[in-house]
Amino acid sequence: MSVFDHPEFDKHEHVAFCHDEASGLKAIIAIHNTNLGPSLGGCRMWPYLNSAEALTDVLRLSKGMTYKAAMANLKQGGGKSVIIGDPRKNKTEDMMKAMGRFVESLNGRYITAEDSGISVENLQAMATQSSHIAGTSAQYNALGETPTGNPAPSTAYGVFVGLKATVQHVLKSDLNGVKVAIQGMGHVGYRLAKQLHAEGAKLYVADIYPEGLAKAEAELGATIVAPEEILTLPVDVIAPCAMGSSINDESLPDIQAKIIAGAANNQLARESLGTALKEKGIVYAPDYVINAGGIIDIYHQKLDDSSDDAMRAHIAKIGDTLVEVYERAEAENRATNLVANQIAEERFTTQG
Ligand code: NAD
Repeated sequence: MSVFDHPEFDKHEHVAFCHDEASGLKAIIAIHNTNLGPSLGGCRMWPYLNSAEALTDVLRLSKGMTYKAAMANLKQGGGKSVIIGDPRKNKTEDMMKAMGRFVESLNGRYITAEDSGISVENLQAMATQSSHIAGTSAQYNALGETPTGNPAPSTAYGVFVGLKATVQHVLKSDLNGVKVAIQGMGHVGYRLAKQLHAEGAKLYVADIYPEGLAKAEAELGATIVAPEEILTLPVDVIAPCAMGSSINDESLPDIQAKIIAGAANNQLARESLGTALKEKGIVYAPDYVINAGGIIDIYHQKLDDSSDDAMRAHIAKIGDTLVEVYERAEAENRATNLVANQIAEERFTTQG
């Protein structure tokens, strides 16, 4: 397949293919845009059916990172890498070291981190070969937990400040008594629920597994709801914190909330649903803006001179960025997701 004519190519600066015969590594690194700084984005290991599928994924993901970094005010560009193979069967330490050498060969234009199929231990193996590996250890935590390298606390803090700013903007209210339905009580969803509860929000929660639900009911007074009902409740806010595409043609007609603000990636099954939400009078917090706490965390963990407070202050700016998006969307009568894309493009097409 031609790379330059690929439908997802979209002005990528650099796409590198790597093969290491000894370890069996087959990987692709895609660098979308480095105008704002070196590209940053996780390494994903997945049993892609073929190299064309891997190329499509890496190009799509690296472009998304450029937009996310720009909206998070990071002096960082967008990139991503994929390793072709089953992480449960094909992964070896030698393969991770070969990946580290591959990253090193780009001289810092690409910094890698964790994504599906890659653990902190794998990153540590890569880091024996390269100084451009993030997420190998952690110094700071946005919610006062012991730092482990898991960015979920920072993501949850970012979603919390973003949701709060959105409620203030749309409902002209603080969180006391505001009804929030959270889809997914996992790493991010539960931590979001805890912060919302502390400010008086009334919680409704759903998950397909019982553990997080029982805890939310016992500790936060949350009402447990069936997964198929959580998006349809007469609440103020719905917070998708499970899988992508929860806002789709099927769920849209039943949404009663005035606000959608959650952590999940790719919440809209297709981009044009942003306009459909606007027409229904629903304010949508663009996913890659509100869930950027994790990437901000990875950025701060690599700085020698940051702190818990500096990281939290940076994440807290997600609220201001969302309000900027809403104000412009209102002034231009456009959907928030499209306005966010435009603001990101304005930021990263200007040299940083
Ligand atoms: P997680 O796997 O810990 O939690 C997801 C939860 O959703 C699980 O408890 C799962 O059982 C539940 N779930 C799955 N399908 C469901 C359904 N149909 N209805 C209700 N619940 C369902 O993941 P996480 O780390 O909490 O991340 C949540 C979302 O946020 C994901 O989409 C992730 O890509 C996105 N995100 C996470 C981070 C991060 O730092 N962890 C950063 C950016 C974006």
